[in-house]
Amino acid sequence: MKLVRTVHELRAWRTARTGSTIGFVPTMGYLHAGHLALVRRARAENDEVVVSIFVNPLQFGPHEDYERYPRDLARDLRLLEPEGVELVFAPPVEEMYPPGFATAVEVRGPLAERLEGAARPGHFRGVATVVTRLLNLVQPHRAYFGWKDAQQVLVVRRVVQDLALPVEIVAVPTVREADGLAMSSRNVYLSADERAAAAALPRALFAALARFQEGERDAEVLRQLVHAALAQTPVRLDYVSVSDRETFQELAQVDRPALLLVAAWVGTTRLIDNVPLDPVPA
Ligand code: AMP
Repeated sequence: MKLVRTVHELRAWRTARTGSTIGFVPTMGYLHAGHLALVRRARAENDEVVVSIFVNPLQFGPHEDYERYPRDLARDLRLLEPEGVELVFAPPVEEMYPPGFATAVEVRGPLAERLEGAARPGHFRGVATVVTRLLNLVQPHRAYFGWKDAQQVLVVRRVVQDLALPVEIVAVPTVREADGLAMSSRNVYLSADERAAAAALPRALFAALARFQEGERDAEVLRQLVHAALAQTPVRLDYVSVSDRETFQELAQVDRPALLLVAAWVGTTRLIDNVPLDPVPA
């Protein structure tokens, strides 16, 4: 496994690879089993695997957690070593955004403006910009993203389609802790009490999912079930949404593939999660 820190070294590595297929997993590091699920899928489907580790300042708001976001490159490399990764790209900020950098990639419309887009102005512009730059640098055949960040998956697919980037975006199901909490680098912010309380969030989602599977198709009923399940807990909902899985429009009836999405605060930590709603089981 090779570690490179500069665009120059990454380009040199990439230029030497002509015949092989390349799978790419972009991350912000502080890796967990969710990230490793993406790496394993990339490993299974490609000749070579590239992982990037970069805490992207552009996708954090001015009062968000950019400074305190957990970072531990040595730990990340230890976790990646046994996974058969060929290349780790861990650039400093100046490599990704050199002096004079002035371009942004922006997706317009509800897809990038609702939910996370509304709660975190500029977030998806930061995501779209860094992902576009990384895809152009790595030039992978496939890039792997987690359904945990469902809106991000759809924003990235929109960019790839609209800018005709020659890459397939593969979305991987959410990996969860034993009590159902979606794995996230941000879970380390939770105190022991908050960590225990946070399990109410996936429980609420899965309770609503169970009602959906029993035949409930009224989106408002599903949203209210989530609210009710969390009412007596320390989990404070930011939003609960039943959204079309393609357009991200809010639905009244779940008559097409959808997502039940939540964002919530536990103490000072903001968590997001979602479950797919498939009206016609595959
Ligand atoms: P991050 O380092 O949080 O930016 O995440 C890097 C990639 O890993 C993104 O595509 C995430 O959606 C994905 N990811 C994060 N957490 C999980 C999880 N629990 N299960 C699956 N994928 C995840």
